[in-house]
Amino acid sequence: MFKINLASFGDFAEFSEELKKGDAVFEGIDYDDNFKIDISATKDGTESVIIEGAINGKVNLTCGRCLENISQPINTEFTVIFRKKSAITGDDAQTDVRSYVNNEIDLHECLYETIMLELPLKPLCSQDCRGLCPVCGINKNKEKCSCSVEPGNAETYKPFKGLDLQ
Ligand SMILES: [Zn+2]
Ligand SMILES: [Zn+2]
Repeated sequence: MFKINLASFGDFAEFSEELKKGDAVFEGIDYDDNFKIDISATKDGTESVIIEGAINGKVNLTCGRCLENISQPINTEFTVIFRKKSAITGDDAQTDVRSYVNNEIDLHECLYETIMLELPLKPLCSQDCRGLCPVCGINKNKEKCSCSVEPGNAETYKPFKGLDLQ
């Protein structure tokens, strides 16, 4: 999937792909149904291809504090230039031009990176998510508990050390 055979079209072509939840095309990305990827490819001479893409859909993430599911919309566009590997120059390395071989462009990595860039590093269901109680584990956005966390011991009780639990 997402391989474009340059011999299969003239100067311009469009491709569209709609992914379903569970297709597992992109490792570690839990997208929902109707995850749409639209690609247009425009040949620029015989050795370069301009790829323009649009990604529209939703990705399921987990809140870093309370562990609830978050449905994160992704609506993004990108443009990448691919150049035949034998025609790549030193300047290309600095301008992020990508290479292809055998008349075939593989967009998988490019799409994967574009999606990853759209995802927050520390997903939160809301900026003021209250997280889980470090003692009894209830979701403090939904319930109250009477646990007391002594300030000095708070660190030892954290069930998810290293995550942003406040
Ligand atoms: Zn949360
Ligand atoms: Zn508690």
